[in-house]
Amino acid sequence: MHKNVIRFTVNSVGMAEETESDVAIERLAAVIGECQKCPLWEDTHHAVPGEGNSRADLMLIGEAPGQQEDLTGRPFVGRAGKLLDSLLAGIGLSRDEVFIANIVKHRPPGNRDPRDEEVRACTPYLEEQIRLIGPKVIVMLGRHSSRYILSFLPVEFDRITEIRGTVYPALLFGRPVRLIPTLHPAAALYSPAYRATLEEDFRVIERELAGAGKTARED
Ligand code: URA
Repeated sequence: MHKNVIRFTVNSVGMAEETESDVAIERLAAVIGECQKCPLWEDTHHAVPGEGNSRADLMLIGEAPGQQEDLTGRPFVGRAGKLLDSLLAGIGLSRDEVFIANIVKHRPPGNRDPRDEEVRACTPYLEEQIRLIGPKVIVMLGRHSSRYILSFLPVEFDRITEIRGTVYPALLFGRPVRLIPTLHPAAALYSPAYRATLEEDFRVIERELAGAGKTARED
């Protein structure tokens, strides 16, 4: 079973302290770890609840765990994950400062697309993660997470390339947030030219994060 990491902050007298949002996120991860709401769990090694800073300004949402993620219980640890790490580093961020999650928390067999009923069963977990973390910016990595999150506005699209890099100001679960769809990092593994596209979108993310405290609340 995946061991959940409990995160601490240091209080004014230098003592390690676990925050309320850390505890809530870890409890939710434990629930996700036992989830059998759809059949996906049957062929997996681990659930992949998501990880990072439970008070992050930036949340990134992928599609579903792949093989490496299933084996480790951690999101984006394969080749696409390495690229994601370097895109984050390019805007001065590390994994510890953001929260990374997926639309579905168990690996679909053979990495097939998640089915509608699997997405329906699993997304209440993602929604609860968004409520608990309260990010200022949500980045959707690829068409699946973009389609799901933008359905709240609602915004529809045919191809992710039509809308990538666009900033959608929104009120999600009662909080102002900037929604930014971009390509899935795996796209750049197959078509290296997409790396520049991703880098361009990450500059948009950087700009929005810099202004988020002020502008998100003014929308
Ligand atoms: N692709 C995703 O969408 N999520 C992961 O966690 C890994 C690869």
